[in-house]
Amino acid sequence: MSCLFCRIISGEIPASKVYEDDRVVAFNDINPQAPMHVLVVPRAHIATVNDLAEGHDALVGAMLRRAAAIARERGYDGSGYRTVFNCNAQAGQSVFHLHLHVLGGRAMAWPPG
Ligand code: AMP
Ligand code: ZN
Repeated sequence: MSCLFCRIISGEIPASKVYEDDRVVAFNDINPQAPMHVLVVPRAHIATVNDLAEGHDALVGAMLRRAAAIARERGYDGSGYRTVFNCNAQAGQSVFHLHLHVLGGRAMAWPPG
C-alpha cells in the first residue's frame, strides 16, 4: 500500500487522530497552517474530487458535517473556520487521497494564495 493516507488510516504510519468512525478518519495536519488544522479523510481510497461519483454523496456529506462538528467542539463555529479540498497541481494537492482541510483559530484572507 503506497498511499500515505491509506497507511495512516490503517495505523501503519502514526498520526494524531482526532476522530474516526466506519467511514471517515480525522487527524491533525503534520504542518499546521492555523491553530486548528485537521484533515478529514474517507477510509476509502479516492484520489481527488474529480474521482467522486454519485455513490459518494453521503460520504462527502459526512466529511463536511464532521468538519463542522470538529470546529464546533473547538469553539470556532461562531468565529469562523475554513474547509478546503485542493484538487490537482494548480490547487496545490500533494497527497492523492481525498482530504478536507479544516482550518480555524485565526483570520483568513480571501482570495486564497
Ligand atoms: P494537500 O496539499 O491539499 O494535498 O494537503 C496535504 C496535507 O497533508 C498537507 O497539509 C500536509 O501538511 C499534510 N500531511 C502530509 N503528510 C502528513 C502526515 N504524515 N500526517 C499528517 N498530515 C500530513
Ligand atoms: Zn489512499
